Amino acid sequence: MRLRDKTVLITAAGQGIGRASAVACAREGAHVIATDIDEALLAALQEPGIETHRLDVRDSAAVQALATALPPLDGLFNCAGFVHDGTVLDCDEAAWDFSFDLNVKGAYRVARAFLPGMLAKLAAEGGSASILNMASMASSIKGFPRRFAYGTTKAAVIGMSKAIAADYVQQGLRCNALCPGTVDTPSLRSRINAAADPAAAERAFIGRQPMGRLATVDDIVPMVVYLLSDESRFVSGQALSVDGGVTI
Ligand code: NAD
Repeated sequence: MRLRDKTVLITAAGQGIGRASAVACAREGAHVIATDIDEALLAALQEPGIETHRLDVRDSAAVQALATALPPLDGLFNCAGFVHDGTVLDCDEAAWDFSFDLNVKGAYRVARAFLPGMLAKLAAEGGSASILNMASMASSIKGFPRRFAYGTTKAAVIGMSKAIAADYVQQGLRCNALCPGTVDTPSLRSRINAAADPAAAERAFIGRQPMGRLATVDDIVPMVVYLLSDESRFVSGQALSVDGGVTI
């Protein structure tokens, strides 16, 4: 049980990587607080060790209210994010603002609301705590076509993770960014199906993965469990790629 006695909150846990992470963390003994904007998805997430709460990470008051209501966390996985498809010329100010509000400010809101409780618990009990922010290989790590707003926000998430890591390294709090390759999740499927030629779109996504396949969520969640667990106690301020060799 790699997460025994740990309380871990995950955003966007209704489907995809967030959901798989919630299930994996609970199976490793964590008490998981699974949150998502979509209550129907949360209703389908009934597993031992998981409690669910609706949370829109764009709603500052709701984030703060949940932080006040819950016990202090040992782990926080900011997983919520949105993929804007397009170049700089396709990205008007509303699209830019939406991507930043969800992908960057969402993680800032949640970290800022829950961090005081995490630090107070560390001060009282010692041990280690971990914040994991979802970035992407499309970020400061590598540029991809039609990922202008997305790559920009995910680069900001890496910078935010390093800044938090630097500020709290001496208090037992670690912060890292996770940078997956292309993962077969419901939102990826909807991007594929929305393409003019879905079969060609899927081939293109697979084509940029040197291992010749998309990741499954099961390729990603072991790194999530590791980074939330004390096994990664000497790891902070890192952008960790799980990308099937894209950045070899
Ligand atoms: P997904 O996109 O399939 O699901 C996203 C979830 O976020 C949904 O359950 C949705 O209800 C929830 N959500 C949407 N808006 C929200 C809000 N305002 N507040 C709270 N929850 C909200 O999931 P995914 O593809 O696994 O992506 C999860 C994260 O991983 C995202 O940050 C994404 O950018 C990142 N990521 C995904 C891939 C990939 O290929 N799928 C690759 C790298 C990084």
